[in-house]
Amino acid sequence: MEIRSFLTGLLTRHDCLVEATEAADGTSLRVLFPPELQESLQVGELEVFELPRGEGRTLSLVHNGRDFIEALAPLALASGLYSALSFPGLTFPVADPEGFLASRLTVQNGIWRLREVRSENCGYLVVNFCLTATADTRSERLATVAVNARTGTIPLGLAAALSDLWERENGGRGPAAVSKAFSIRKEGKTPPIGTIAHSREAGGKQAQDAGGDDETVLPRVLAAARRQAALAAGEVFREFRTNLNRRLARDLTRLQGYYRTLAGEIEKRRRRKGHDPEEQERALSRLEATKADYLKKIRDARDKYALEILIEPVNALWVELPVTILEIALQRRKETRLFALPVNPLTRRPESPVCVRCQAPVLNFHLCDALHILCPACFPHCPVCNGKSP
Ligand SMILES: [Zn+2]
Ligand SMILES: [Zn+2]
Repeated sequence: MEIRSFLTGLLTRHDCLVEATEAADGTSLRVLFPPELQESLQVGELEVFELPRGEGRTLSLVHNGRDFIEALAPLALASGLYSALSFPGLTFPVADPEGFLASRLTVQNGIWRLREVRSENCGYLVVNFCLTATADTRSERLATVAVNARTGTIPLGLAAALSDLWERENGGRGPAAVSKAFSIRKEGKTPPIGTIAHSREAGGKQAQDAGGDDETVLPRVLAAARRQAALAAGEVFREFRTNLNRRLARDLTRLQGYYRTLAGEIEKRRRRKGHDPEEQERALSRLEATKADYLKKIRDARDKYALEILIEPVNALWVELPVTILEIALQRRKETRLFALPVNPLTRRPESPVCVRCQAPVLNFHLCDALHILCPACFPHCPVCNGKSP
């Protein structure tokens, strides 16, 4: 990223007013700093930064005799900060909601009926997780997961669609009618819901109910994201695990063969000297010792290949999107339950509810008698109903 857009982005996010003036020998940025930044960055209310042409790609800027990029570091790197994006202009109206859902949603042992179609603003937490698998070898991977904070549904493919859009839109400066707002808030201090809606750029359009107390939303959604990351880890490390099990099985077979031969030889010797009670005694204790040794070696092999998977969030992005909510009634036998199914404007697909047992996102599912959603693999073992469903 070139220094000019870096400065403009970072300072604008911290409520500075930034104005660029082009000249033959470069660009000057006139920046109006709010009082708290004037103090923490030790700058005046208005500062003019001269960005010489041709040096735009290096991240160094000397201003008033000091490295100003270094002075800005606390704004960009403080922990607990995350970025937020809003796309108020990105709409995907669902022309024929009934038909749209019919080809995308399957309730195996029940029916659904469309009750209401409405537009809402939904907030999403998009998190990059670092997955680390450790056994006798180590493997590290990244997984990106997204969760709808309002409904708890999973917008599969959102992260990829988001980065495509971002590229098409040239970082939000593109020609499409998609507006955006940047904001950085401190986790725990400022609730994520409606963060952007309250900021200037989004025109003060307020997000509707958050589906919970604002203070509890982020931990709850992060926990849901972590469960999705755990599912992703299962997929990502499938081969790693298979490999591990193969090597463990190979080691166990070798150990078995070795100790079987050893025990066979002791037994042979014992039989040969069957008349000597002292030899018998010695052979028996040798067999015991061999057996203990064998069991210990098996434990060691299992420890050596024991798999530990660490799942850690690396960074998070808050995204707000205008969403079409299809409110459906799920029905099985005489029970009915309302369910809000969002259609994501970025992926242009319905978001997936999660199985109450394994948390897998599913659009093809079963219902227990109490109408909990269960994936085909988990049905009929509903953990909420203690497995009492049929
Ligand atoms: Zn399941
Ligand atoms: Zn149930």
